[in-house]
This record gives sequence, structure tokens and C-alpha cells, in this order.
Amino acid sequence: MPASVLAAVMTAPRQPIELREFPRPDLPPGGALLRTERSEVCGTDVHLWHGRLSGVPYPIIPGHVSVGAIEAGRGPLSGIDGSSIREGDRVVFFDVHRTCGRCRACTVHRTPTRCASRRVYGITDPAHEGLFGGWAQAIYLEPGVALARLPASVAIDDYIGGGCGLLTAVHIAERAEIRLGDVVVVQGAGAVGLCAAALAKLAGAARIIVIGAPDDRLALAREMGADATLDLRHTARGDRLEAVLDATHREGADVVIEAAGAAAAIPEGLDLLRVGGRYVIAGHYTDAGDSTVNAHHQINRKHLEIRGCWGSEPRHFLRAISILERQGSAIPFRKIGARSYGLGELDEALADAEAMRIPKALVDPWK
Ligand SMILES: [Zn+2]
Ligand SMILES: [Zn+2]
Repeated sequence: MPASVLAAVMTAPRQPIELREFPRPDLPPGGALLRTERSEVCGTDVHLWHGRLSGVPYPIIPGHVSVGAIEAGRGPLSGIDGSSIREGDRVVFFDVHRTCGRCRACTVHRTPTRCASRRVYGITDPAHEGLFGGWAQAIYLEPGVALARLPASVAIDDYIGGGCGLLTAVHIAERAEIRLGDVVVVQGAGAVGLCAAALAKLAGAARIIVIGAPDDRLALAREMGADATLDLRHTARGDRLEAVLDATHREGADVVIEAAGAAAAIPEGLDLLRVGGRYVIAGHYTDAGDSTVNAHHQINRKHLEIRGCWGSEPRHFLRAISILERQGSAIPFRKIGARSYGLGELDEALADAEAMRIPKALVDPWK
């Protein structure tokens, strides 16, 4: 690897991505430098580019989920499972690299994804602090980052195709408490919705219906495990309700997963649930505006349970790797990452992601 590291920098919202050279970092004990093999452009990166996440310290190097090989380490490195990691090993790491462990969110409420001191690669770290994002030829792994060796049986394309959407979907499946035989509706056919459909199937759902667009994503949803898909552009809300009622003895779905991020999805999702059903809302990562609901008809009288799902924790990261190790060849996670872009092509990648031309753009910093 050369003495300096090339990285793509998001200087401010809506500005062209700039290529900059960064010095190779001096590693502290326990630190490491990862030679990036792939990173991703996910929906969050589009939100970052739109300036829709608060408190982002631009300029930043985006890219929060990545895979690479250990280029250099200082002192012994170990994986989150206790295994030793050596230079040259292909590894993945959990993108949340700091939570305080002391605040009320961390300790009392047991909601560390809401820790105010939480630091996430590619989102919360300013570029002047160093290589804290995957849109770069190398990533600085600070001491304490949750590292794991990527199992030899897991293809890079499957890991990064699932990427942050897969981690989020593991958390969603946990929050949704899907039971054997459940009918699950997934609102949204982006990376999170596609992964959620796959995991709902693994969790034992008997029937999975994905609502979304466009056609190619719905086709991929069926490959990922959906039994039926409803095209948002060619159906009305009433048609979709009828389709779900038809599939559920006129009762409604046991579980609805919101992975759409649209305000209109919320009242519709409530209507699609059966009495006593469960709604997991995971797609509203930014403020999509107000949703109008009728609390009597849509929540109280239906005795519904509504749960938010924010971010992910190390256990979701580890479970995602286990799922890929056991199921990675059977579920086409690799097809979510439709196309790779070089560091000089990331404006185009953001535009393609924004226009939903592809489910997810990948970053190949050596292209
Ligand atoms: Zn905390
Ligand atoms: Zn992401």
C-alpha cells in the first residue's frame, strides 16, 4: 500500500464528492489499518448527501459497512469471538465504534443504539480525525472496534450485498418476534426490506408479502424469500389491503415491518395488521414528515403493539455473519449490491441510489 491513502470525501450536503489523500495513520497499541476491499453506498449515505441527518460533522469519509484485509496491526488483535486476528486476514467490523457504557441509555434503559456519545464509522467522525469511513483505500480500526474474521465460506459480495441492511434486518427480526407460521408483510423493497423478507422466512414465517417498487426489486424480493409482491405503482392502498386480507382469512397480517421510510406507509401498515398484531418501524431513519392515524380504529381497538427499531448492536453483527455462513449461498444477498463504483464515480453512485436505479451501490476503492 502506498504511503498515502486515497479517500472520497463528502465535504457538505449536495456538494460533489472530492478525492483527497490522507497520510497513513500512526497506529496506537491495539489499532489496525484495514486495506478496504469493498464498502457500500446505502440509503443512509443518500440521506447524508441530502443533509437530512442531524449533527453530521462534514467533511466526512462516508461508508459505514466495509470489508477488507488487515494491512497492519500494532500488537495482538483479536476478534469479538476471542480468536486472534493476524495481518492479511480478511475481516469485517461493527460500524459503531464507541458507546459510552455509562449514560442512562447505555445502562438504565439498555438502549445503547440511542447513546448520545455513539460514534459510527462513515457518519459521525469528521475527516480531519482520520480514516473513519469505507469510501477509502484504507480504514483506521481504532482499539476496541468489534472485529470478526469473515468466514472463508462467505463471499465478499454476499457480506457487502447484505451490508448494513442485513444487520438492521437481524435487529428487526428480533424486535418483530416472528413466530412459526406467521404472515409477515414487509413495506419497502430496498436493502433493508429485501433482507427483512429473507430473515422473516428463516424465522419461520409461512407467508411473506413485500410491498414496493420497481419491478426488478420486487423480482429480487421473491428470490430473497417473498411469496408475493405488491407493486406500489400499480396498486391502490385498498387493493393492497384486500390482497393481505385474502391471504389471512380476512384477519390481517401477524407482523408488519416498515422499511419504506415514507410517511404514508404508517397508516397503511396499521391497517394491514390483524387484531393483536405487531408493527416494527425501521425505515424512518430520517424525518419523513407526519403520518395521520386514527388511534381508536387503527391502534387501540386493534390492541396493536408498535415498536421502533433504531440501529444495531454487536450481537446483530455477529448473527448476520452466522446467517451468511449458514445461508449465504442459498439467499442471493450478493444481488442487492448491483454494481461497484470506484472512488471517482461516487457522485454517479449517489445519483443512481437516489433515483432507485439499483438496490445498492458498492464501492471498490481500487477500481
Ligand atoms: Zn451511552
Ligand atoms: Zn447503511
